[in-house]
Amino acid sequence: MQSGLVCVDADVIVIGAGAAGLAAARRLARRSVRVVVLEARDRAGGRVWSRPIARSATPAELGAEFIHGRGGPTTRLLREAGMAAVDVGDAGWACSKDGELRREERDLSSAVAIFEAARALPDDESVDCFLHRFEQDEATRETARAARAFVEGFEAADPAIASARAIASEVRSGVDLAIARPLGGYGPMVEHLRNACAAARVQLCLSTVVRRVSWRRGAVAVDTSCCGGPQVFHARAAILTLPVGVLRHRGDETAVAFDPPLPSAKTEALSGIEMGHAMKVALWFRTAFWARIRSGRYRGAAFFRCERQPFPVYWTQAPPSGLVVAWAGGPRATALRALPEADLIERALNGFGALFGGPGLVRREFEGGLTHDWSGDPFCRGAYSYVAVGGGDARAALAAPVDDTLFFAGEATSTDGQSGTVNGALETGERAAAEAVEALGLAAHRPRTE
Ligand SMILES: Cc1cc2nc3c(=O)[nH]c(=O)nc-3n(C[C@H](O)[C@H](O)[C@H](O)COP(=O)(O)OP(=O)(O)OC[C@H]3O[C@@H](n4cnc5c(N)ncnc54)[C@H](O)[C@@H]3O)c2cc1C
Repeated sequence: MQSGLVCVDADVIVIGAGAAGLAAARRLARRSVRVVVLEARDRAGGRVWSRPIARSATPAELGAEFIHGRGGPTTRLLREAGMAAVDVGDAGWACSKDGELRREERDLSSAVAIFEAARALPDDESVDCFLHRFEQDEATRETARAARAFVEGFEAADPAIASARAIASEVRSGVDLAIARPLGGYGPMVEHLRNACAAARVQLCLSTVVRRVSWRRGAVAVDTSCCGGPQVFHARAAILTLPVGVLRHRGDETAVAFDPPLPSAKTEALSGIEMGHAMKVALWFRTAFWARIRSGRYRGAAFFRCERQPFPVYWTQAPPSGLVVAWAGGPRATALRALPEADLIERALNGFGALFGGPGLVRREFEGGLTHDWSGDPFCRGAYSYVAVGGGDARAALAAPVDDTLFFAGEATSTDGQSGTVNGALETGERAAAEAVEALGLAAHRPRTE
């Protein structure tokens, strides 16, 4: 262990102030547990990052934007924060072969249903391999293509790596079917959670990068670097909410070391989970011009799709504004990664223009663009997780506590189909907090008033 200033003793150290970490910290502190949260960034929220845009009521969500599936804890938190959720609707327009935009009645259920057959596979196989046989058959070709687009676009996964069985069980949860969004963005929800943590006396240390976790049963020491120099934090237990990309990363000074190393069950679990890649570009325009053109036929459009483009999906906002988001997931996002931000914005803008017949109109209306390279970001190294072929129970293995001392949360540890979502992250944070309370015998503490 490095020498350094001993900052504070706590009962539990939570590593990471994303949705999982904040949910865990709040749950613990409300049981009178002394909690310190260590966060590398200078902000809370992690992969939830709302950026205000000048003259726009709608912020640009560079990370999470939608509420997927049943949304339990997310919906509860929004309610607590006095926020509403609005349905996104499915008013979509898609590019046809002749380049015209046509109204799309998008029904993902048959694409999703194709994965039912993967549940009965004798051996797991990649999505690529699994879909290949459906793509050979004229009768199922289109559905298989939609299923592939879903795996790449929604799961942000590479079909050559993703487990067909795991996709099959995750789509069963219905996480892909209902889509809503927090009115006003996710920012106020994170702020609410952060304020609730402060009110419950959680100590949140921002700009504090965890370098090493030294542990034995009942004791953890966490070495960090922060602007004031190295610091060591001590506690009886730690809840790790580090993204899989961070946990897997080795070989340079940004890696988080474990002393002793994590048990082999954990490293095996980590090799069964991949980080998916997504490229998201926010574009904002002087007006929502698309609602006015062609006799207003695109008024109320929620999505525009064009599979041929580098960004195959664009979506609008609710309530409508001049903000549009360009999205690419999986291998397409990987292909875009090498480009600098200005080129990404340019491609996204050109693609949006192409939907309406050329660049003229979008260029006249364009005000600005913004993106973030989540895959190059050392504090996540990808967008969100998916299970690789043969990964089987990797999520459950990653979630399992070690020696009643290290507890694991974060979207990748969600085992009920909510992985890759804010909702899954919140649920796992609460689950890990309950496990820590139980293991440390803190359950007898009287809860503080909520
Ligand atoms: C582009 C994009 C779009 C998305 N869209 C959606 C969506 O529409 N709906 C949805 O539900 N979900 C979406 N997601 C996924 C969602 O954002 C995540 O599942 C969720 O926010 C993960 O929360 P978490 O707490 O598990 O992890 P994180 O939010 O990543 O939190 C982990 C925290 O650990 C910190 N950390 C990392 N390394 C260190 C270190 N060494 N020391 C200290 N701290 C460290 C990080 O800075 C981070 O704050 C999207 C994600 C991305 C990237």
